[in-house]
Amino acid sequence: MRFAGTRGEPAVGFAEALFRGLAPNGGLYHPTSYPDLSNLFADLDPEMPFVDLAATLTVGLLGDELGSDTAEAIARRAFSFSPALVKLDEKLFLSELFHGPSCAFKDFGACFLAAAVEALGPPDSRKTVVLTATSGDTGSAVAQAFSGREGVEVVVLFPKNRVSPLQEKQLTTVGGNVTAVEIEGAFDDCQRLVKSAFASDTISSELRLTSANSINLGRLIPQAYYYVDAWLRLRGASKSTVRPVRFVVPSGNFGNVTAGLLAWKWGLPVSGFIAATNINDVVPSYLKSGIFSPKDSVKTHSNAMDVGNPSNFERLTALFEDREAMREVLTGQVVDDNTTEEVIARYADTSGRFVCPHTAVGLAAAERELEKARDSGDDFVVLATAYAGKFREVVTKASGRNVPLPERLRSALELPGEAIRLEPTIEALESLLLDRYAT
Ligand SMILES: *Cc1c(COP(=O)(O)O)cnc(C)c1O
Repeated sequence: MRFAGTRGEPAVGFAEALFRGLAPNGGLYHPTSYPDLSNLFADLDPEMPFVDLAATLTVGLLGDELGSDTAEAIARRAFSFSPALVKLDEKLFLSELFHGPSCAFKDFGACFLAAAVEALGPPDSRKTVVLTATSGDTGSAVAQAFSGREGVEVVVLFPKNRVSPLQEKQLTTVGGNVTAVEIEGAFDDCQRLVKSAFASDTISSELRLTSANSINLGRLIPQAYYYVDAWLRLRGASKSTVRPVRFVVPSGNFGNVTAGLLAWKWGLPVSGFIAATNINDVVPSYLKSGIFSPKDSVKTHSNAMDVGNPSNFERLTALFEDREAMREVLTGQVVDDNTTEEVIARYADTSGRFVCPHTAVGLAAAERELEKARDSGDDFVVLATAYAGKFREVVTKASGRNVPLPERLRSALELPGEAIRLEPTIEALESLLLDRYAT
């Protein structure tokens, strides 16, 4: 596969796109063509472990460029965890994506990226610095995925007072090669700073910057794999009748749903995607009105989706001829905080199941769409993006019950955190990076 920038930049291979992060004019790397994997999908064994599925897909997609052995090795080193498909109702399923090291779906992208950076770099003497902005989960996933890897430094920017206390602990307690930086601003400021840092000649002459947020192709590609996994498990479970599947994707920066659309472009039989947002609804409004108008983000219960100017919108538009074509596969649903709380409480009451606020947004959207599609016979798969205990305050308040924390999160809470405070200016970030890492 070859990847060109969304702003007219020329095509490069996977490894180059991985280390560049952003294309030279500020565009995002995006496939120039879509391989047809429908035969490969049809031949998959519904019993195969996720890591084997990931290895097969990585070889199918990147084997030509990287060689089959390297492609397979990256997938095998990345995934020590798997998605789990859970049946909630006759037509409603959850794909639990929170069984990795940071208990959120971003582990899939981050672990694959870390394995790829380790396997494919560093190509010259500059130090490799992974720079990423997080609205919550990216940072901890990246921090865990890269922790202790030789020759790689990690810098995570997070917005002050906009991540949950536990997320903050997860970011600030890794230490070692991982530096947490608290920005006096919102997530959009963090994202703008990362973009400016990549455009800075001062930085690139001294350091090899690599992005690790959802704009990096090395995170995007593996996120397509769990859509294939969910489809495969459904196929395995239904045996005789294979029903069309619709994915409901809690969305903020729109990397996740973009990855799903890639899987669909490669031939995965999906009848539609529903992007579920909180009231930060620029993409659902675009789908309705045709006008894309980025805004400042608003704080909500599902804070990893508080994004006012989703970066991956450029990739979404690159996938389609026009908005009409996009609307044939992608629908938007907007869910407010009251509904989010109501869904959390209802699932806890009726089934004792705790869902995180992002997953609750997805469930609310799925319920509305299921109502509309009563007679369609489609199966709905909601991506469960994080473990409920990561958003303890919201889930406890909404459900009136105490949410258990998994052990790996509990231990982070005990440790003292450490973060560097920074003004939201590129000058401040430049001096920080050069002081710490330039040789
Ligand atoms: C990042 C995140 C999202 C949103 O995913 P995007 O790829 O940014 O659309 C949803 N839920 C959780 C828990 C997240 O961490």
